[in-house]
Amino acid sequence: MKYISTRGNVNGIGFIDTVLMGLATDGGLLVPEKIPQISLEKLEAMSRMSYQEIAFEIISSYVDGEISEQDLKDLIERSYSTFRHTDITPVQKVKDNLYVLELFHGPTFAFKDVALQFLGNLYSYIAKKTGVTINILGATSGDTGASAIEGVRGKEGIRICILHPHGKVSKVQELQMTTVNDPTVLNLAIKGTFDDGQRIIKEIFADLEFKNKYHLRAINSINFARILAQIVYYFYAYFQVKKENDKIEYVNFSVPTGNFGDIFAGYMAKRMGLPVGKLIVATNENNILERFIKDGVYEPGEFRSTYSPSMDIQVASNFERYLYYLLDENSSEVQSLMNQFKTTGKIEVSKEQLRLVQEDFSAYGVKNDECLQTIRKYFADTNYLLDPHTSCGVTAFEKCSPQEDICVTLATAHPAKFNEAIELCQIEQTFPEEIQQLFDKPQYLEVIEADKDEIARRLERHFTSAEVNSK
Ligand SMILES: *Cc1c(COP(=O)(O)O)cnc(C)c1O
Repeated sequence: MKYISTRGNVNGIGFIDTVLMGLATDGGLLVPEKIPQISLEKLEAMSRMSYQEIAFEIISSYVDGEISEQDLKDLIERSYSTFRHTDITPVQKVKDNLYVLELFHGPTFAFKDVALQFLGNLYSYIAKKTGVTINILGATSGDTGASAIEGVRGKEGIRICILHPHGKVSKVQELQMTTVNDPTVLNLAIKGTFDDGQRIIKEIFADLEFKNKYHLRAINSINFARILAQIVYYFYAYFQVKKENDKIEYVNFSVPTGNFGDIFAGYMAKRMGLPVGKLIVATNENNILERFIKDGVYEPGEFRSTYSPSMDIQVASNFERYLYYLLDENSSEVQSLMNQFKTTGKIEVSKEQLRLVQEDFSAYGVKNDECLQTIRKYFADTNYLLDPHTSCGVTAFEKCSPQEDICVTLATAHPAKFNEAIELCQIEQTFPEEIQQLFDKPQYLEVIEADKDEIARRLERHFTSAEVNSK
């Protein structure tokens, strides 16, 4: 299995180099040369496996022998041993045609733990193998930061710096990131939005001299390893639902998405042979993806702060991966559309391409008041408390999934992480102990201008001064 860039100028690199490269050196995103196919027999066999066993089957088909079988199994075991639920990502039936896939039983109560626990262990494995310290740089709209820090803290050979938009993340998200007292962890609160942070990170990674000098590594969902770990739960959820409904031919998935990462993992699962019907893109008022799926025009709109801040994103960094497949794996066409995006701020696909988009996807952009309404309604009718991101997913399920289909909505966060929205619904919740404790801890963060040069200077200090952990 080799990996290539969506823009065509990186070719034939292996899995570990793909993980280390993050963003491709030609500015594109890395994808597998061929998508592994899961046969019907294999699917049948996998349906009886545990989460970890399914993870091994899927991940090993992409790692392709670069990590020994035993090491990979250990890595997977270790990554999911931190989850509070034995099923790792349990599936709950909420009503007849709606299941909720709970992805929030990891250390930071959000779905990003599923991928970042794995990526943290993978980086540490690579650092140990190569003897080179890994410096991780990431931008977050809230959940990635906490989850990435949890994924690497205390691990051998790793330093990390996370940028978050100052004052634009939930209280619990901020506490989860900033209460970690470890010299290898640096939190920069930038005066700007998540998109500013993501842009600055992209620019710093594009500075190859800087990147190479500090062995800079990515943790954002542009890293293929994250997508890979997320493919697993689509399979797992399908098998759970199929057990209770053996006649079904496919399942729809409604996915709260911002960067197009999580839903792209679902698209990969479908391309691998999982019987997926529609992939429903659930967005909030930042609805660039909804507009693209409905009209075929990809064009950022005005930034809005919503109750689902982890999806307050205008430029979906994984979108280029999908574009690559939509354009029939033609990297020069991807290159020219991305250039066009850079100069005109917009991408428009043809009628025929739009038809292909709509074969796989539907979309709905959830308005702020609708988001709260759905939380209230499901709490009253089913006693199930949705977090505001999951609420977008459930609202989109209601709008887009046909009554006769079964749909799995991905629950991307625990409601305790977003109590601001839950309180607006006049619902009182009890926080899990792990979250309650955070309120008494001191915070470690620095507020900084959204300025690339200033941030690069601060990074240099962190990457040269903080001692790394070694065991
Ligand atoms: C990150 C995040 C999302 C969006 O995920 P993408 O990978 O950007 O699609 C949705 N919900 C929550 C709670 C998140 O943390």
